Amino acid sequence: MRLVLLGPPGAGKGTQAAIIAEAHDIPHVATGDIFRANVQQETALGTEAKAYMDRGELVPDDVVIGMVQDRLTEDDAADGFLLDGFPRTVPQAEAFEVWLQERDWPLDAVIRFVAPEEELIARLESRREIEGRSDDDSEVIRKRLVEYRSKTEPLEDFYEERGLLRDVEAVGEIEEVGRRTLDMLASLERA
Ligand code: ADP
Repeated sequence: MRLVLLGPPGAGKGTQAAIIAEAHDIPHVATGDIFRANVQQETALGTEAKAYMDRGELVPDDVVIGMVQDRLTEDDAADGFLLDGFPRTVPQAEAFEVWLQERDWPLDAVIRFVAPEEELIARLESRREIEGRSDDDSEVIRKRLVEYRSKTEPLEDFYEERGLLRDVEAVGEIEEVGRRTLDMLASLERA
C-alpha cells in the first residue's frame, strides 16, 4: 500500500508508523529521521536543515520534495511505502501528487491521527526527557504546533477532497491505536 500519515507533533505518528510498516512490509520513510541522520553526519543537507529544525520551522519545500522523491525511487519502495512527515505543506502535496501521477502510483490512504492539544504537549515534553531531541523544548514545541496548524492542517482538506482521508483516534495504549489503524487498513483492502 502507499500510505501517508498526517497528524500534529506528538500524535504518535512515528510509533504507529513502525507498527504499520512492519505489518504491511513496506518501508517507513520519515523525513524528520532522514534530516536528523543528515544533521548527525554533518552533510550539506543536514547543515541546511538544522537551522530550521532548531527553530521549530519547516525546512523549505524544494529541499524536502527532492529528498523524498529520491528516497521513493529506491527499490524497496516499488511496491508501497509509508510516509511519515511528508507532505507537510500544500505545495509539497501538490508537487507530490503530480510526481505520483507520472508514475501511476495512486495513494491508498492518508491516515490522520487525532489527539487533543494538551495530550500532544504532554507527550512531547516527556519525550524530551527520554530522547533528548533538541527541538523538544517548550518554546520550540509550541512553534512546531503553530507551524502544523498553519501549514499542515490545510492538507487535511486537500486529501479529504480526494476521498483519501481516514481518521484514527490516537489516544489510548500504543497497541490499541495500532490495532485500530491496522483494522481500518484491512477494511480498505477488503473494499
Ligand atoms: P514532529 O512531527 O514531531 O515535529 P519530525 O521528526 O517529523 O517531528 O520533524 C522534525 C523537523 O524536521 C520539523 O520540525 C521540520 O523542521 C523538519 N521536517 C520534517 N519533515 C518536513 C517536511 N515535510 N517539510 C518541512 N520540514 C520538515
